[in-house]
Amino acid sequence: MKFNTKTIHGNQHPDKAYGAVMPPIYQTSTYAQKFVGELKEYSYSRSSNPTRHALEQSLASLENGLYGIAFASGLAAIDAVMKLLKPGDEVISTSDLYGGTYRLFTQIFEGFGIKFHFVGMHHVPTIEKYITANTKLIWVETPTNPMMNIIDIESVASIAKQHNILLTVDNTFATPYLQQPLNLGADIVMHSATKYLGGHSDLVMGGLVVKKKDIADRLYFIQNASGAICGPQDSFLALRGIKTLHVRMQRHCENGAAIARYLNNHPKVSKVYWPGFKQHPNHDIAQKQMSGYGGMLSFSTNNDSIEVAMAILENLKVFTLAESLGGVESLAGHPATMTHASIPKEDRKKIGITDSLIRLSVGIEDVEDLINDLKQALDAS
Ligand SMILES: *Cc1c(COP(=O)(O)O)cnc(C)c1O
Repeated sequence: MKFNTKTIHGNQHPDKAYGAVMPPIYQTSTYAQKFVGELKEYSYSRSSNPTRHALEQSLASLENGLYGIAFASGLAAIDAVMKLLKPGDEVISTSDLYGGTYRLFTQIFEGFGIKFHFVGMHHVPTIEKYITANTKLIWVETPTNPMMNIIDIESVASIAKQHNILLTVDNTFATPYLQQPLNLGADIVMHSATKYLGGHSDLVMGGLVVKKKDIADRLYFIQNASGAICGPQDSFLALRGIKTLHVRMQRHCENGAAIARYLNNHPKVSKVYWPGFKQHPNHDIAQKQMSGYGGMLSFSTNNDSIEVAMAILENLKVFTLAESLGGVESLAGHPATMTHASIPKEDRKKIGITDSLIRLSVGIEDVEDLINDLKQALDAS
């Protein structure tokens, strides 16, 4: 089955009760048993629920895996992966990481005796310097936020295999429409389904997909034992969103490309960060491992000040100033004062987060309206 069919039909079946084409929202915590000790498919909704199960099956299909495990948020999914580890274990992670992931690693799991190394992975061989006998997990996020660096998943996977280390890839930005990490050698794919998979900014959810049964069994155990599950209503919404993932992503890519090119030619813009440009430092890797460049990009202005960025953001009318990304509507954000405010200014500058840097999550509106909006906002600033 091709990807564009999987979004609609992948591992999906009409409901057993009445043949409903969309999985009903099984809003129930428990299930009647005919006699004591009867073994049933469903017994308690923390352990499993038919609506969540339908979503988990869909996630597995999209990522070309065998097992999907859904959680209350992207961070709850990451939390479950970290619980595969024990005190003394070491993790090598991408350095320009989603802020919430960094916070979970350093402020929760470091306290439980897990050691983290944050490494610039665009030069893959650097990873080997940090491998010890205790290294159990490599954590990759690509493209990175907000600088849109690209990490070569296949090369990292070959190092991980050589040393018998688990590799997890956060595939939130690319989605399985553009990039399928399990096919490139990753063991676990992680999603914040809050973003493109849900796609409509109406839910918070996370997911994991794996191919190997032993890892899946352990993750299902953690899902049930720790209990950070998503509810049936949200599972339904995520499934509904996934059915249009391929058409939405196609438009996100088209609009993203048009806006990246427009901004790149604008006299007030100093730099556009978008992996589709030939001059992007990791363009060849993006071309190799992704089937398109997505709808995320960042740009800075010649007059590199917070005031200029604020003026642009205030003047935007179609783009909404907001956290998050991946919805049908276009959003704009200011990393230096929003998502990355907790990083000291000097460290921010080192990774390229200048004062004027603006991050765009390009939506699926008419691209002319989006470009005109950016034009008037830049002209007025
Ligand atoms: C949003 C996000 C997360 C966290 O997911 P939540 O659903 O907000 O918990 C993790 N990684 C990336 C890349 C994200 O964008």
